[in-house]
Amino acid sequence: MGADVGVQTSLEVVEKIRERTRGDRFLTSFQVRRLIRDELLAALKEAAGPAMNSAEGAPHIVLVVGVNGVGKTTTIAKLASRYMRAGKRVLFCASDTFRAAAIEQLDIWAERVGCEVVKQKPGADPAAVLFDAIAASRARDVNVVIVDTAGRLHNKSNLMKELEKMKRIAAREVPGAPHEVLLILDATTGQNGLVQAREFLRTTGLTGVIVTKLDGTAKGGIVISIARELQIPIRFIGVGEQIDDLLEFEPEAFVNSLFESPVS
Ligand code: GDP
Repeated sequence: MGADVGVQTSLEVVEKIRERTRGDRFLTSFQVRRLIRDELLAALKEAAGPAMNSAEGAPHIVLVVGVNGVGKTTTIAKLASRYMRAGKRVLFCASDTFRAAAIEQLDIWAERVGCEVVKQKPGADPAAVLFDAIAASRARDVNVVIVDTAGRLHNKSNLMKELEKMKRIAAREVPGAPHEVLLILDATTGQNGLVQAREFLRTTGLTGVIVTKLDGTAKGGIVISIARELQIPIRFIGVGEQIDDLLEFEPEAFVNSLFESPVS
């Protein structure tokens, strides 16, 4: 299958299949593939769950987390575009104040998709930017605030403290917020993605995952490990660099795609 599903997951799937086929000594490769497919699909479906809604009239706060380079900014723009097509008014919150380039990048995308940005100078307190963004969203009748956050790995404890503070501020300003904490994962990083997901899940909590760069050769078997081990739903997948290249995650289509190449 060559899909980077992960050792632990693979072993468990094999064990389950062994249990289910006890007594059937001769299975065709087609039957085996079918059993594996069903097992993987069941794992994805188990982790699935509906996205949370915000209270009537309150801004919907979406915190976007993930390490640098995974496609966070691009995905934020794609998400905004989806919301806007559904008639929502979207505002970006530039809380990755660690890199000036991150603020510029978000600005460029905001202009492209046609939504507003709340930002401060590089080095500003990310939670203070979020506070401003929430106030602006109320004043401007914004429905959805998408919050970009820093993704540096080398100063993990600071980063996690920052994210926790942002969550506190969001909850204080809007009951139930943040309504979503979405982790962006790059499909090409393979099992390292699982390590990242564990880390973010432990410190910030996660309501969903978006897997990017599934248009390349990576098959993203990592999503199965995430769904099985961490029980986090996969919400969307990124399949290109353009604004419309974000698809809703469909377990059946995804599992089938893992089997596209012939089994040797
Ligand atoms: P960030 O550092 O996490 O904010 O990452 P960016 O949004 O700047 O994206 C990093 C690179 O990945 C850019 O060249 C994007 O065009 C590219 N990228 C993002 N999402 C996808 C995707 O789904 N498919 C492909 N092929 N490239 C992507």
